[in-house]
Amino acid sequence: MEKVRTAVIGVGHLGQYHARWYKNIEECELVGIYDTNATNRNEIAAKYNVQSFEKLSDLFGKVDAVSIVTPTIYHYEVAKEIISENISCLIEKPITSTVAQAEELVALAQDKSITLTVGHIERFNPAVQELKKFDINPRFIEAHRLAAFDPRGTDVAVILDLMIHDIDLALYLTKSKVKKIDASAISVISDNADIANARLTFENGAVANLTASRISLKAMRKLRLFQKSGYFSLDLAEKRADIYRLADDSLDDQSGTRIPLGKSGREILYSKSGNKDDDMLAAELRSFVKAIQNGSTPEIKASEAVEALKTALAIEKIGLANGGGVID
Ligand code: NAD
Repeated sequence: MEKVRTAVIGVGHLGQYHARWYKNIEECELVGIYDTNATNRNEIAAKYNVQSFEKLSDLFGKVDAVSIVTPTIYHYEVAKEIISENISCLIEKPITSTVAQAEELVALAQDKSITLTVGHIERFNPAVQELKKFDINPRFIEAHRLAAFDPRGTDVAVILDLMIHDIDLALYLTKSKVKKIDASAISVISDNADIANARLTFENGAVANLTASRISLKAMRKLRLFQKSGYFSLDLAEKRADIYRLADDSLDDQSGTRIPLGKSGREILYSKSGNKDDDMLAAELRSFVKAIQNGSTPEIKASEAVEALKTALAIEKIGLANGGGVID
């Protein structure tokens, strides 16, 4: 199979790692770098001995796929030009700043028959991947994503910057649509919301309580989900899943350590898995390249990223007004 020719657009904090992996993944070839900042693009291009493109249009015809890793406010204008040239793209999260922009890109990508995916990287977290082994039907999700303040990312609210990861996971895990949002959001240091809490009620009755802060002294990325058959506690920073299932000898997989459940006469099966050394970005980019080579649907569909964005923007609006509301 032919190698996928790639480039990275925007090589700041995160884009440099996209370049590193495209250089190292066997199924692709890193052709070049484009960044509006000449110092950044020249430095990374020299590091990997690839072309430093002076204009976006210089990479047209030379690559099959790109990662767009610019600040969010530029995702739309860059992606529109790229997709128009029939180039597949992975846009970092959130897909765009507005739903109208995102929907336009999805329609354009369909029209051009290119692969469009979005960097909802937590889907590649080993702790989240572990859940694929189980029948997941959460009734209640609790997520905390706390980070220290960093001016990077403050072009958008904490909901689009950090909480969007957990919004995407909640949508993915519940496999349902959001029916109702209660939220609160506060701007503390930046001009946008820096801390937010949202309670999402899904059409299937599941509930997700999400908290995100970028003004925290302590970092934390945890998601816990509860369902009738068990409790799944994911430490996303440690890439570890602790799994507590109700033992049921009528089912096949009864592996794990047996722990008595209080005085109920029932037992819990406890198991843990995950690997801190697994690189989630490598997995994300490999999955993108594979989807291009096989002509298959990418693991993260652009339409899912649009749903996550819609929910995030609704949380921001409702949260800043400090009230509750219903999505129509
Ligand atoms: P950054 O500010 O460190 O880097 C952005 C780079 O893009 C800079 O080098 C800048 O010169 C360049 N740039 C700006 N406008 C451009 C344009 N129009 N064309 C080409 N280059 C341009 O930002 P970052 O922290 O690397 O974030 C970039 C994106 O990645 C954001 O959308 C952010 O939300 C996302 N991100 C995702 C994750 C994740 O967990 N998936 C983590 C961090 C950042």
